[in-house]
Amino acid sequence: MTITGINGLIEKAYDVLETGIPLSYSGALLLAELEGEDIMDLVSLANKVRNRFVSLPEESGMHTCSILNAKSGVCAENCRFCAQSLHNGADVEQYSLLEQGDILTAAGEVYGEGIRRFGIVTSGYGYRSVNPEFLRIIETIDRLHQEYPQLKVCASLGMLGEETASMLARHDVAHYNINVQVAPDRYSELIADSHRVEDRIETIKLLRKNGIPVCCGGILGVGETMQDRVDFIYSLQDLDIAVIPLNVLVPIEGTPLEEAETPMVADVLKTFAICRLAHPGKIIKFAAGRETVMKDFQGLLMLAGANGFLTGGYLTTRGRDVGDDRRFMQQLAGFSGR
Ligand code: SF4
Repeated sequence: MTITGINGLIEKAYDVLETGIPLSYSGALLLAELEGEDIMDLVSLANKVRNRFVSLPEESGMHTCSILNAKSGVCAENCRFCAQSLHNGADVEQYSLLEQGDILTAAGEVYGEGIRRFGIVTSGYGYRSVNPEFLRIIETIDRLHQEYPQLKVCASLGMLGEETASMLARHDVAHYNINVQVAPDRYSELIADSHRVEDRIETIKLLRKNGIPVCCGGILGVGETMQDRVDFIYSLQDLDIAVIPLNVLVPIEGTPLEEAETPMVADVLKTFAICRLAHPGKIIKFAAGRETVMKDFQGLLMLAGANGFLTGGYLTTRGRDVGDDRRFMQQLAGFSGR
């Protein structure tokens, strides 16, 4: 690409900052080819778009949440990245749905740390229909609302049906997480073939029908190309997503991806920035892989358009101390234009 071409490309992308109209798919594919120092121009633009188009009540400008793995392992699905799949040989803790008291205690701990969004996550295909376990989750959600009125309770329980989606809406779930992961066309090759990405999309539509804001993103580093990443980002535009979590694979021993190569930071930066330009006003969160895989570059990645992150640990891997993250957030606020 010539210098003039690159300048023209970045200049054109500045239209997003002027108008708030998402970057075109073809424009995103061109930006995906940027190299070297030009990537930092893209990062700067993404940070400006974030500052102009995302408004959050939080003083820090950051949307943070914490999750609890409320049911772990023994999952019959075959997601290639996941330690909890029975098909993989990962050494992971296995337990059935936690008792309500344990979930309340975990929520109370993060509440005490100042976190106001708490997600209950369960392993497995999901809850297509109401069963006793699903009812226990609903009861726990109700108790959480009673104990911590300011806490927003989120859930990630896999695939849903008409009745289970409607019950979650009636019990005031703030966001429901279900990820499409990578380019939908390559889901069976890169992620799993025990279920279809269309099943996930069907659940997303049910959630929207019931008025539940959807948290839907994906995982980078599973063998996808930059084109796949762009396809994934643009597939979210049609789904009316509220929050986009972006994960970077944490390779876990015993899974088919245990030796997967860590994506280049430059490519992850471009992906984050393109995601911001494609979704100017959405919440984009850095989820797994922030501290453990991207390490020294996590701050830079947060400046490439992200406006939130997961704190306090992940499903099967540890995160870092919430206090460290709070200080991290204070430093990031210096770039938020607030
Ligand atoms: S990601 Fe969810 S559905 Fe897939 S194997 Fe892991 S627990 Fe099961």
